[in-house]
Order: sequence, then C-alpha cells, then structure tokens
Amino acid sequence: TVFLHEAFCDHEQVVFVSDEAAGLKAIIAIHDTTLGPALGGCRMYPYADEEAALRDALRLSRGMTYKAAACGLDLGGGKAVIIGDPLSQKTPSLLEAMGRAVERLAGRYITAEDVGTTVADAAEIRKATRHVVGLPVALGGTGDPSPTTALGVFHGLAAAVRHRWGADSLAGQHVAVQGLGNVGWHLCQLLHEAGASLTVSDVQASRVAKAVATFAARAVAPESIYAAEVDIFAPCAMGAVLNDDTVTRLRCAIVAGAANNQLAHEEHGEVLRSRSILYAPDFVINAGGMIRVASERDGYDQDLVDRGVAGIGHTLLAILQSAEAEDVPTQAAALRLAQTRLAQARAARALR
Ligand code: NAD
Repeated sequence: TVFLHEAFCDHEQVVFVSDEAAGLKAIIAIHDTTLGPALGGCRMYPYADEEAALRDALRLSRGMTYKAAACGLDLGGGKAVIIGDPLSQKTPSLLEAMGRAVERLAGRYITAEDVGTTVADAAEIRKATRHVVGLPVALGGTGDPSPTTALGVFHGLAAAVRHRWGADSLAGQHVAVQGLGNVGWHLCQLLHEAGASLTVSDVQASRVAKAVATFAARAVAPESIYAAEVDIFAPCAMGAVLNDDTVTRLRCAIVAGAANNQLAHEEHGEVLRSRSILYAPDFVINAGGMIRVASERDGYDQDLVDRGVAGIGHTLLAILQSAEAEDVPTQAAALRLAQTRLAQARAARALR
C-alpha cells in the first residue's frame, strides 16, 4: 500500500526500520534531496497504527522540503517517526538503534529532535551516527531550537500584521495562542514583551495557570480557542487544526502559528481566504528552528542565524503580497515559491 498511498506521490525513498532487540519500529521518509541532504526531526509517538505513522512521515517530510526551499536553505526534506510512547518506551538502546538506521543512509538524511524526542535524545542518537543536529551545547550543538522557532513565528506575525493593517508593531494586538509547550510559551513571552494581549489554551491545566500568572493571559478551554474573538490565532500545538469543524468558527483576522501541517486539506486555505482570514503558511513561519539546527553543519554563527530568522518576516511579506496580487490562497503562493526554487535547482543540475 505504500506505493498506492495518496501522500507517496513524489518521495525519493521511504525506509522501514526494525530492530527487535532494541524495540525499535520506525519509518524514515526522504522526500526530496534536490537542494541538499534531507533534514528533519525524529518524532516519537504512540501512533494508532502503521498507516498513521506512515502518513505522518510522508506529510511531514514533504513539509520539510518546502520549508527549506522557501527559506533559502540548501537542504532537502526528510522526517523520521518512531512508533511508540516516548514516556514509557524510549530507551538509550532504542535511540542508538535509530542512530544506526540513520547512519546506514550515509548522510542522505540528517535527523534532529522533534515532538516526543529531546536534545538529550539527539545526543544518544549521536553515539551511532554523525548525521544528527540539534545537539546539546556541550557537544558543540545549538541546543533546544524552540526559542528560535518562536522568534521566527514572531517575525511572521509582525509581517502579517504589517500586511493586513499597515501596523509596524504587535503592541495592542490580541493573540490567541493554542498550546503552551516549548514554542508556544516562548511565543507568549515575545508577544507579552511586545505589548500584545493574550488568550491561551492547553490541555495541561498547569501550563495555562502559569501563563495566566506570568502574562496576565485570559484562559479558555481547548475547544473554545477557535471561537475566541481575537486579532490573531496562533496554533502552536498539533497539526490539522484548520479543518471542516474549525475554519467556520474562527473569529480572527490572521492565522499564524508554529504547528506543522495546520491545514487539514489544501482547500481549507481557500475557505480561510473566502472568509478574509489571512493565513501565514506554517512551513514558512516555523522555519526558525530548522535554520538554527542547520547552522551546526557549517559552524554555528549567531549573526547569520538571526538574519536568517528575521528573513522569515521578509519572505512571508513577499508571499502575502504575491497571493494578494494574483488572488490565490497564501498557501498556494508559498508552495509556488518553494517549487520554483526546486525547479530552478533541478534545471541547473540538468545543465551540468
Ligand atoms: P510541545 O510538545 O512542547 O508543546 C505542545 C503543547 O501543546 C503542549 O503543551 C501540549 O499540552 C499542548 N496541546 C496538545 N494538544 C492540545 C490541544 N488540543 N489544545 C491545546 N493545547 C494542546 O511542542 P512544541 O515543540 O512547542 O511544538 C509545537 C508545534 O510546533 C508542533 O506542531 C511542532 O511540530 C511545531 N514545530 C515545532 C518546532 C520546534 O522548534 N519545537 C519547529 C517547527 C514546528
């Protein structure tokens, strides 16, 4: 069924990994290496079945290709998923077995931390492969990429606000942040410092209580955040949150957040446009972490990373302007930007 899978139309390679002794069952999806080796995190999640894991690996790896292409990185897109519960099934030997699987791909795929894995896990994986980034600072890495992802999202929000209202700051904007994890929390911090007011939700009550106390945020139940009357909705929890059930409930002017694959289907981008809601394509504005971990390969340079992350705002603004000029959904304009860069690289390679 892999060859017939709806999401397997343009992947270069999909590897199924099994290491019985280490308890490892994983899938590594390499979507496209036109621009460089495929970079993407290693997710660990208790998927309901193999189909769900495969779907995630295929969708997420394609997103990584577009993210790198749109942000001007010389990298391709890949992703690994480990099938299992990170709280009860993650062991050093499982991570090392994952490292061996990555090593066998000889650099075509570079892994990193992701949902369900940490910077410390990347260090375990490092024991078996050189092809891992997002390492602890003590090992020459750049540590947790989340603050940089949040900064990129913040630049994206500022660009969206500039495009929508001509405002040059986020002061006074009301933002609903869904998910107060690594990225969502840092984003709240940046928004609070910039003078925005916050409405927040999380399935973990302690995180919500902390945000209320720290940022004077208004708390709403997880299901109520979609209908919050705000200027901006920032999804920073899970994917597919913009779906048939939610897009008609939104009461915001802009959707801009960190979560991967926010649109359940491409047509939800069209629904947002028909409702005059400006959507900041996720793979463009959540690229900050990728820019940061990628910098480990050439020697981390803070200035270069800062410029790259600030560039997310400029890239998004150009995408929003071209979508408006051509009357197409912003997601379509962002995909076209990424696909154009890929097509140019393929054409240049064919001439060599
Ligand atoms: P995280 O696991 O640290 O945080 C996710 C938060 O969302 C948790 O606090 C969780 O309790 C909460 N949550 C889960 N379900 C929820 C729901 N239904 N309603 C409200 N809250 C809910 O993850 P993270 O690293 O902060 O990443 C957040 C999102 O951003 C993910 O989709 C991730 O793929 C994406 N992303 C993260 C990075 C990064 O650098 N960490 C980079 C790019 C994209």
